Amino acid sequence: SFFHPVWCYHLPSCNDTTWSKVSPHYCSGSRQSPIDIVSASATPNNKLTEFTFVKYDDTSAMTSIENTGDTVKVTLNRGVRISGGDLSEQYDTLQFHLHWGNGSSVPGSEHTVDGKRYPMELHIVNSKSSYSGNTSLAVKDSTGLAALGFFIEVMPGNSTGQPQSWRNLTSYLANITQKGNIFVSIAAGFSLDDLLVGVNRTKYYRYLGSLTTPACNEAVVWTVFKEPIKVSKDLVGVISFLTCHNSSKPLFILNLIFAAFVFFLASKQRASVDASPYSNELTLVVTWNRVDIAKSELFNGDNGKVRRGTNVS
Ligand SMILES: [Zn+2]
Repeated sequence: SFFHPVWCYHLPSCNDTTWSKVSPHYCSGSRQSPIDIVSASATPNNKLTEFTFVKYDDTSAMTSIENTGDTVKVTLNRGVRISGGDLSEQYDTLQFHLHWGNGSSVPGSEHTVDGKRYPMELHIVNSKSSYSGNTSLAVKDSTGLAALGFFIEVMPGNSTGQPQSWRNLTSYLANITQKGNIFVSIAAGFSLDDLLVGVNRTKYYRYLGSLTTPACNEAVVWTVFKEPIKVSKDLVGVISFLTCHNSSKPLFILNLIFAAFVFFLASKQRASVDASPYSNELTLVVTWNRVDIAKSELFNGDNGKVRRGTNVS
């Protein structure tokens, strides 16, 4: 999710099965997130170059942390931004937040890869710089937002409190055990780069998708990084303990179908391994072709009725 409304997955009155009724225009749409990424059938795209991360090394970029009731959200200073990676322009990095299940026993990532669900997923939310942080405008643009998704895996071995950056982050959770608009300032000392430790950011999957909660706006360029961040089991447990209602949303059937159309090739040749730092790069793209065919074939059920009943064209 991006803006953390009150959509609580655990209540029948407002869980994802109701979303196509609540927000029929988008939540029964054709490019809904999250998806299962079928790695073997993703296709290479040599436009998916390296990103440029600005102020991701700034140890005072994080301003405050908040328990929204649905997630833990960290707000960032102005000036943090990304470009490259085949994005059409520069995007401002606004915030990041987490999705989790129940510790390492019940994984809670939103995306899955070849059916594997990771313990947690970190989402960094970016908005086109030309909108100057106005997300109401950004969600009306099919590429108005750019989300960076990082899986979080439990670190092997018995180490605790690792990495230090995640120990720092989780140390703030004790101050926000109550949900609500309680903003706790984050002291300088660790950066976004520190939180993304160990991840090769030239290896990623790309697809055009949506917000993962209502209104499910199909306005998001999704980048899901292949390598997970490794965090020690105790810290994963601390985060999961905070609130227990952030279980993951089931993947949309449309997206599972579409995932079958993903293709893959290595994007760079290995001819000069030493010459190119990206020789092993796996930049992957999900293609959204055949959308109309799939929609007409598959959606003769509830979602189709909702769409017709509400005169959404
Ligand atoms: Zn999210």
